[in-house]
Amino acid sequence: MKLSQIHPLQYSILFSLLFTLSCSWDRFVLSRVNESTTVKAEAAKELLNKDKITIVLTGTGSPLPSESIQNSTAIFVNGQFLLFDSGDGVAMAMEKLNLPVAEINAVFITHFHSDHFADLGEVIDRSWLLGRQKPLTVYGPKGTTDLVNGFLKSYQSEYYYRTKHHGEVVMPSQWKGAKPNEFYPKSDGSSKIIYEKDGVVVRGFFVNHEPVEPAVGYRVEFKGKSIVISGDTADSKFLKKQSFGVDYLISEVMNKSMIAKVEKAYESIANPRLGKIMKDIQLYHIDVTELGNLAESAKVKTLVLTHMIPFVKGYVQTKAIYKDPIQKVFHGDLIIGHDGKRIEIPLP
Ligand SMILES: [Zn+2]
Ligand SMILES: [Zn+2]
Repeated sequence: MKLSQIHPLQYSILFSLLFTLSCSWDRFVLSRVNESTTVKAEAAKELLNKDKITIVLTGTGSPLPSESIQNSTAIFVNGQFLLFDSGDGVAMAMEKLNLPVAEINAVFITHFHSDHFADLGEVIDRSWLLGRQKPLTVYGPKGTTDLVNGFLKSYQSEYYYRTKHHGEVVMPSQWKGAKPNEFYPKSDGSSKIIYEKDGVVVRGFFVNHEPVEPAVGYRVEFKGKSIVISGDTADSKFLKKQSFGVDYLISEVMNKSMIAKVEKAYESIANPRLGKIMKDIQLYHIDVTELGNLAESAKVKTLVLTHMIPFVKGYVQTKAIYKDPIQKVFHGDLIIGHDGKRIEIPLP
């Protein structure tokens, strides 16, 4: 049909229809923007609430393929947002979880395996793009300065384009990037205070992830509550010492008998390369029974599992591979972590 053949009445109906559709799209977009803004504001208010500490397991994965985001834990304490490690996928995961990314105060890196820092550049950048107007410090052992400066260098053009396009008011170049802050824990396994703000204290200490050195864990303290983050470690007397009596120990864990079976399976199908990797990784992670014993003898109140190797899904597998062997020796509370898991600690 040619345009000239359209009756004026048809024109008018078509125009009204397009007008109505356009108005309803406007209303739809406005309501979605309103809804997402409200949800994010409420989530931020809840997490930055000073009456409690909130732990969010932002990523519970490892370098082995799984459905999980790589390793990361967020702790909200006294209005501060502290992020421990930032493996692959963590920056987007935080936004999907409605965490107030622009409010981040500090990132703490445990060691330089990529599943603990791969998304650091994105965490630094996204927090700024989303409105961070304060400095961001990245704490970590020796090597952190090189790591941070490497990311900053690779993001130079990104920072430049954003400010050039949106202007200094929207993207103030003053707050782009982050500052590294290296620390050197004592070799005797005692901890060192590396962060202190409004009563919140974070200590760093060595763990045993040989041949990866340095490798550290962290202990967060506020108003008599304590949380330890293991980082990656084999069974470690330093971790045990720092975990003594803690409210929460958030620890990596491996079921070594399962990984030994995977090792044998690769050897039996003539894949010695993957067999060797499966053999090697058993040397620098902590086994389920070792972790259960460590938590029991350190009188840990609640043990939280993250960075679980192998990744398993479903009640039956999780029970057999993690819950049963740990609860055979550990009698405190046990939380099997998953991405997005929140733990709230009321404050006195
Ligand atoms: Zn790891
Ligand atoms: Zn590691």
